[in-house]
Amino acid sequence: MDDTREMADPLPYALFGDRGAGGMLLVCEHASNFVPSRYVGLASDRKLLAAHVAWDPGALRVARHLSQFADAPLVAGTVSRLVYDCNRPPEAPDAIPEKSEQFVIRGNLELSEVERRRRARAVHDPFHGQVANMIAISPVAPVLITIHSFTPIYNGHPRQVEIGVLHDTDARLADAMLAVASNHTNRVVARNEPYRPEDGVTYTLRRHGVSRGLLNVMIEIRNDLLSDPDACRRMAGILAGWLGDATKTLTENGAHT
Ligand SMILES: [Zn+2]
Repeated sequence: MDDTREMADPLPYALFGDRGAGGMLLVCEHASNFVPSRYVGLASDRKLLAAHVAWDPGALRVARHLSQFADAPLVAGTVSRLVYDCNRPPEAPDAIPEKSEQFVIRGNLELSEVERRRRARAVHDPFHGQVANMIAISPVAPVLITIHSFTPIYNGHPRQVEIGVLHDTDARLADAMLAVASNHTNRVVARNEPYRPEDGVTYTLRRHGVSRGLLNVMIEIRNDLLSDPDACRRMAGILAGWLGDATKTLTENGAHT
């Protein structure tokens, strides 16, 4: 009976940290490559599960360290984006990807509308409900930060950018972070790289940050810089410094209260 199988879907998010005192909320949509066993066609392909299309390697580690450094709660996905990509709205065709740079994702081909809606209900809705809930219970209007990672080589071309600072229509925090980064690092840091809002990657920012007037930014880290736990911790330390300095500047300028 389908009802019991539906109940067997795991909670699609994990919550780290308590409410936090830092006025910051972290989100990591692509934290996990776990595929529940009900998705037989996806769960059986190990090569697919290891690939970037299944998750963002290293992103959860960075986000968890950042959560500790900044005393900020973190909402992290627990289900692979092969099942449902929580950084896409249900109406987006690539919310349930059918192909990637390297793979045709057979378990997602020719899904019925009923199945697409069921996955959105099982994964997207509770995930974004929890993000909204964390904003609602936050003691102060939080700064929204999403953490992602990307592959060093795409379609055979090496990517030079090491850290991407992405924004949608509200660039306040991204501008301030880029200004801080330009003085504090020789890493290759770039605005709206390696993806742009036109690629549909700012859904979480728009849904929860731009809509409420919260300062927000999406951070993309090249995953060869996150190859071991120490590297992830160091990266989180760098980002915590930039975010702290950037929000301080914005507060002093009256752009953030
Ligand atoms: Zn991602």
